[in-house]
Amino acid sequence: MAQIIDGKAISLEIKEELKEKAEAYKKEGIEVTLAVIQVGNDPASTVYVGNKKKACEFVGIRSLSYELPEETTQEALLDTIKELNERKDVNGILVQLPLPKHINEDLVIKTIAPEKDVDGFHPQSVGALSIGQKGFVSCTPAGVIQLLKRSNIEIEGKECVVLGRSNIVGKPMAMLMLRENATVTICHSKTKNLQEVTRRADILIVALGKPRFITSDYVKEGAVVIDVGIHRDENNKLCGDVDFDSVEGKVSAITPVPGGVGPMTIAMLMNNCMESVTIQNQ
Ligand code: NAP
Repeated sequence: MAQIIDGKAISLEIKEELKEKAEAYKKEGIEVTLAVIQVGNDPASTVYVGNKKKACEFVGIRSLSYELPEETTQEALLDTIKELNERKDVNGILVQLPLPKHINEDLVIKTIAPEKDVDGFHPQSVGALSIGQKGFVSCTPAGVIQLLKRSNIEIEGKECVVLGRSNIVGKPMAMLMLRENATVTICHSKTKNLQEVTRRADILIVALGKPRFITSDYVKEGAVVIDVGIHRDENNKLCGDVDFDSVEGKVSAITPVPGGVGPMTIAMLMNNCMESVTIQNQ
């Protein structure tokens, strides 16, 4: 029987730990503060932003909300970020993506001060990760590492295949597994003989954005499978990039969707907010 990795329980455990840390900071007179900026009212973004604010409340992080209209100019948004960069009482700045088309996302990400970049998307944060220096790590891949560690799955020396090379998931995921001393292979849409490569994996991390793409033919007997994907199928049911029913019987451990990687992303955002205090006091 495969171990079902419970992301809901693990994320709660992390948030409980962070709650204690937030209380300790409050006793020292530090109120950890996250500024959340949303431009426009994309319904999915509104749900994500709402969930982030709820998590802040649970952990004891103060959240400042900036709900800017769709027609906000790029200049006005950059000015808001620059103001927040300067504020001593703001530890983290998060700009909910995607942004309206008239705003250059790369420029927005680069404008956030690296020491407040709790999403870990700034080129300086990405660079720090790749050369093993301290900095913020993108929340979803950081969450996967916590899932593995807290489920007592050994990473060191293991063959790890990361399926997907996006800037927010695949690439930082591969860097993190390398930092944990796995032997890492990254696959993408031009990879030849994909099944041959994925079947080598002791740990297969799937982030390719295709519903139920990975069936048992892609996995080795006894492998650990982490499914980052999230979709709604034709029946409006949530599913991942992995065909759970096909794969579960063959593997030693697997994350479900929902309730696997998903809840970890917000928990790790909360963790980054807490880390920001240390990073800013270096
Ligand atoms: P993305 O930017 O679309 O990247 C997908 C990657 O998969 C690309 O590198 C692409 O290769 C590769 N790929 C696509 N089709 C492939 C195929 N047939 N064979 C091999 N590789 C293939 O996606 P993303 O932002 O990384 O997200 C991936 C999934 O994770 C999505 O389902 C997304 O919704 C989910 N997600 C979940 C969370 C969470 O909190 N749980 C957070 C972020 C993302 P190329 O580079 O060659 O195009």
